[in-house]
Amino acid sequence: MLTCPNCGISPLAHAIRDMQYTYKGRSTTIPDLVVEHCAGCKEVLFAQGEQEHYGALIAAFRQQVDAQERKQVSALRKALGLTRDRADALFGDVPGDFARFEKGEAPAPAALLKLLRLLGKHPALLDEL
Ligand SMILES: [Zn+2]
Repeated sequence: MLTCPNCGISPLAHAIRDMQYTYKGRSTTIPDLVVEHCAGCKEVLFAQGEQEHYGALIAAFRQQVDAQERKQVSALRKALGLTRDRADALFGDVPGDFARFEKGEAPAPAALLKLLRLLGKHPALLDEL
């Protein structure tokens, strides 16, 4: 039985854990991960191979969140009646920013997403820009 590498005192024991993961304000539960748990210091380590399993699951979750975000940028831009060129002129740093955001070639800045969501709720504010 392995001794805990954190405290160096207690033995590690297998356990099954669900882990909460949050990305860009959205959370998911990664279920049934095999971990090594220290009853002494409460350290939790991934069992052999589980870190890769966990990494693949969170990568898939991040891709899903990023895809939803891309769709939301596109939908909000269209709902505001803006072409990509007009949106670039209003919010972008350089021409082509919205095309890159909507194709997933670059992440839309969090502040831009918040601004678009706000304008989506209060489209009359677009005239103030
Ligand atoms: Zn320990």
